[in-house]
Amino acid sequence: GTIIEIEALNKWYDKFHALTDIDLTVAAGERIVICGPSGSGKSTLIRCINGLEKIQQGRIVVDGIDLTANVRNIDAIRQEVGMVFQQFNLFPHMTVLQNCMLAPMRSRGISAQEAETMAMKYLTRVRIADQARKYPSQLSGGQQQRVAIARALCMTPKIMLFDEPTSALDPEMVKEVLDTMIGLAEDGMTMLCVTHEMGFARSVADRVIFMADGKIIEQAPPEKFFSSP
Ligand code: ADP
Ligand code: ADP
Repeated sequence: GTIIEIEALNKWYDKFHALTDIDLTVAAGERIVICGPSGSGKSTLIRCINGLEKIQQGRIVVDGIDLTANVRNIDAIRQEVGMVFQQFNLFPHMTVLQNCMLAPMRSRGISAQEAETMAMKYLTRVRIADQARKYPSQLSGGQQQRVAIARALCMTPKIMLFDEPTSALDPEMVKEVLDTMIGLAEDGMTMLCVTHEMGFARSVADRVIFMADGKIIEQAPPEKFFSSP
């Protein structure tokens, strides 16, 4: 079934029209890659999906919850939508483990012990459990980004949003993060990924969306997309 429904979305930053008439339907389990030039609205679009940006027109429904109907719905959605940013946004004064435990304890009210069990499960899944007691600054960029993915997974999201997750990484670390994302895709996670990694798009995406000037210009399965003359 449908997990994300966006209708006639328009977003302005002051007078600047950042998103124009966006219609987008995402099926549960679908893997979408969003590409397009810098400034075309890719980041704004995915930030709208978990309520990080206020919209001025249109409707966004995520897993049956209408973000635009009630501001309180945004909190509900953030529990179901995990987000990974270009900058890893880990808390520097907290260990890897503490970073992963924080959100489930705060917003779900689960015990420290349960949160730790959950954190270790997802740190194991991103193959970084052996670094759990370290601080972010003691890890490589690729390792920090995998921790950021594990941290998002600790909220057991139904959807994962990625905003250029490999763009801040040294080239040799890109693969370990993409491999982690491929693993998630193989597990059936619904994913929307803003990325310039066209190899990832080709091998993982069900659909590639190309944006320009705040609009969806084209969308197609990757094989169609990359074979266009
Ligand atoms: P911010 O993110 O800066 O706190 P908002 O997201 O609330 O602000 O809105 C961004 C700006 O867009 C505001 O300054 C608001 O006046 C402007 N704005 C809101 N609706 C429209 C619209 N329909 N057309 C043009 N500008 C708008
Ligand atoms: P992309 O992810 O495709 O690079 P963005 O969604 O980040 O594009 O930005 C789209 C446009 O909106 C850009 O022109 C950018 O400068 C503008 N923009 C993004 N965030 C803000 C903001 N907080 N205030 C004003 N303009 C913004």
